[in-house]
Amino acid sequence: MTPWVVLGTIAIVAAMIGGGVLLDRRIGVLPRPRELAAPPDRGPHHAPGEAPETALAGPLDRRRHGQRCPACRARMSCDPASDQVVRYGDRELVVIALVCPKCAAHRGLYVARA
Ligand SMILES: [Zn+2]
Repeated sequence: MTPWVVLGTIAIVAAMIGGGVLLDRRIGVLPRPRELAAPPDRGPHHAPGEAPETALAGPLDRRRHGQRCPACRARMSCDPASDQVVRYGDRELVVIALVCPKCAAHRGLYVARA
C-alpha cells in the first residue's frame, strides 16, 4: 500500500465528515440536544378538582351533583354537612366529600368559593 492510498483515504473521509457538518449546519439533519432532552418535570398532575391547585370554579350546588365515581362510573352522592372549607393561598376552597353508593369509594372535590 502506498502512502498516497492512505492519504487519499484520509482525505476522502475528512471531506465526507466536513460535507456532513456543513450540510447539518445548513439544513439541520441531526436533532439538536435541546430537542433530545427530556421535557422538564412539572410535578404530579391532578385531574380538575382533585387537588387545591386544580380547584373547580362555579356554583357549589352544580358541582355536588352529576359527579361520577372514578372506579365504577356510578353517580356519587354527598352530604353538604360534611363540606370542609380550606384556604389555599389567597383563595377559599370548599372540599366536597363524595361517596359512591355502589362501591363505597370516597373522593374529595375542591371547588373555589364564589
Ligand atoms: Zn363506585
